[in-house]
Amino acid sequence: MKVRVMNRHGALTGPVESAPWRLTDAQWQARLTPEQYQIARGKGTEAPFCGTLLDNHRDGVYACIGCRLPLFASAAKFHSGTGWPSFFQPVANENVKTHVDRSHGMVRQEILCVRCDGHLGHVFADGPPPTGLRFCVNSPALEFVDQADLATLADPAADL
Ligand SMILES: [Zn+2]
Repeated sequence: MKVRVMNRHGALTGPVESAPWRLTDAQWQARLTPEQYQIARGKGTEAPFCGTLLDNHRDGVYACIGCRLPLFASAAKFHSGTGWPSFFQPVANENVKTHVDRSHGMVRQEILCVRCDGHLGHVFADGPPPTGLRFCVNSPALEFVDQADLATLADPAADL
C-alpha cells in the first residue's frame, strides 16, 4: 500500500510503499494498553469530554497508536464542542480509510488507519471549511508527538 510516512528529518514523505500490519489479537493486546486495545481493536468509543487529547493545543502530529503512521496534524485540529478531538482533514488522504458502519442503529463512516486497520472514530459532514468534514477521533487511538520531536516518528518505509 502507498502511505505517507515521516522521514528522519521529521518531514512527511511523498507516497511510499509500506506493508500492512497484520498482528494477532494476542500481539495487539501485548502492544497496547487495555484502553487503547478496546478502542483501536475493539472499535470502542471513549466517553466525551474525557479524552487526554481533547484540549491538547500543542503543535505536532497525531500518529496511530497501533503502527505510528502519521494521521492528523495540529494545524487541522479544531474545537468542535462534541467532546472528542476533531480535525477537518487527515495529514494525508492516503493514510486514512473509511468504512460504512451500520452499528447502533446508525449509518456512519468509520475511519481507520490504512496500515493497521486500527479504529480511529468516525467522519461527519458537518465540519468547518475548507473541507466541511469533521474527523471525530478517540484519544486512545492516537499518540501525540510534539513538533520538535517529529523525527522520532521516522519510519523505515521512508528509506526504501
Ligand atoms: Zn495504524
